[in-house]
Amino acid sequence: MTSTIAEMARNSGIVGAGGAGFPTHVKLSAKVQTYIVNAAECEPLLRVDQQLMKVYPEKLVHGLQLGMKATGAKRGIIAVKRKYKNAIKKLTQAIKADSRIEIFLLEDVYPAGDEHVLVYEALGKIIPESGLPLDIGVVVNNVYTLINLAEASEGKPIVSRYVTVTGAVKNPSTMEFPIGTSILDTIKAAGGATIDDYQVLINGPMMGRIIDPKKPITKLTSGVIVLPEDHFVVRMKNERISSKVIVTKAACIRCQLCTEVCPRYLLGHELYPDKVMRGIAWGAPERPEYMTGTFLCVECGACTYYGCPMGLDPCKMMTEVKGQLRGEGLKNTHTRKVLSIHPERKYRKLPVKRLISRLDLLNYDHDCPIKKRKIQVKQVSIPLKQHIGDPAIPIVKVGETVEKGALIGKIPDGSLGAVIHASISGVIRHIGQEIVIEKTK
Ligand code: SF4
Ligand code: SF4
Repeated sequence: MTSTIAEMARNSGIVGAGGAGFPTHVKLSAKVQTYIVNAAECEPLLRVDQQLMKVYPEKLVHGLQLGMKATGAKRGIIAVKRKYKNAIKKLTQAIKADSRIEIFLLEDVYPAGDEHVLVYEALGKIIPESGLPLDIGVVVNNVYTLINLAEASEGKPIVSRYVTVTGAVKNPSTMEFPIGTSILDTIKAAGGATIDDYQVLINGPMMGRIIDPKKPITKLTSGVIVLPEDHFVVRMKNERISSKVIVTKAACIRCQLCTEVCPRYLLGHELYPDKVMRGIAWGAPERPEYMTGTFLCVECGACTYYGCPMGLDPCKMMTEVKGQLRGEGLKNTHTRKVLSIHPERKYRKLPVKRLISRLDLLNYDHDCPIKKRKIQVKQVSIPLKQHIGDPAIPIVKVGETVEKGALIGKIPDGSLGAVIHASISGVIRHIGQEIVIEKTK
């Protein structure tokens, strides 16, 4: 039965819906003591997880029970922000019959949903540098992933997902779209943009990115945010790295605030964004390990959007340095197992409300009601690669008719990956990096 649950996840094409998209069947094949639901949803403006917990509490708990069964976990924890009061009420009811499951309340801080932060808060245990929750006998899955697992147990593959469409749109809301729906169609479903000159950010202002609105949503798209093209967040995301280097040289005052707010530094990891910025300003690092410490950066953006008083972008610089080191073939050697929590950690948490204000997003912090009616579209473009690992291999041909839910892409032999299914019924019109299906009825 244990392997059946992992196989079920594999056959349904489930990937971690809240992060980089790690194929869930791999996590389900592990043996652990504790299974944690990451119900923090700490990216400003996103609503989808907190709403799904309210609408589908039983499904979430069923998904958690399946995950616990597959991994042998004896303890289940739903780590949820204290402020999601209605969801907590529903979840408390849903876990009543299962004494192995408890609810852990998190503060409304960023990034409460970072796996290392979440595990430390919920269990008081520190995951080693560069490590995974698995290293200390824990699996962490996000809310949507476990709801998908519950649906997989009913034989349903992943063909759609709820997405919060917000920002400068007429009717900010959370709606269910077929996978592969164009972002333009999601904005249309939210009543259209309220401004002419806009750009689109997916998956949140902190860790999200600017995207071409002609691109499709994937299994990992939790939010579509429309912002004016001269908005602070858009400008920060779009600014060229060469300009950022020039400004760093001119404006970094070496105050170390970027390091002082870094959630991984506060957990005892050896990464120092201020020293990386100083290395960039001087044209050479003080010590090489300051630069290789960038391997420990999870690109959460706290240093940039909360820490830096000069409007610099240490997060981007950390990412850039990390990329260059990887390009030179350097491997991450930061793997310390015994870490000491920073004594001031508890005073350095970033309240989400203040973060939203710093991001100049208070005007866009909408409620976004959830709509249960599925949005219909005429065409979808389903990317072969939506997740960590290798792209799926198409098993259909152009001109072929497919039914919604049919398998259209398989995992390459011996690879890490996820299968994909047709998200609407129709005819295959194109196969490239995406499989395009056009509705015929
Ligand atoms: S982005 Fe900044 S704050 Fe976040 S982990 Fe990296 S260095 Fe730390
Ligand atoms: S917070 Fe900004 S100014 Fe201060 S050290 Fe970091 S990058 Fe430099």
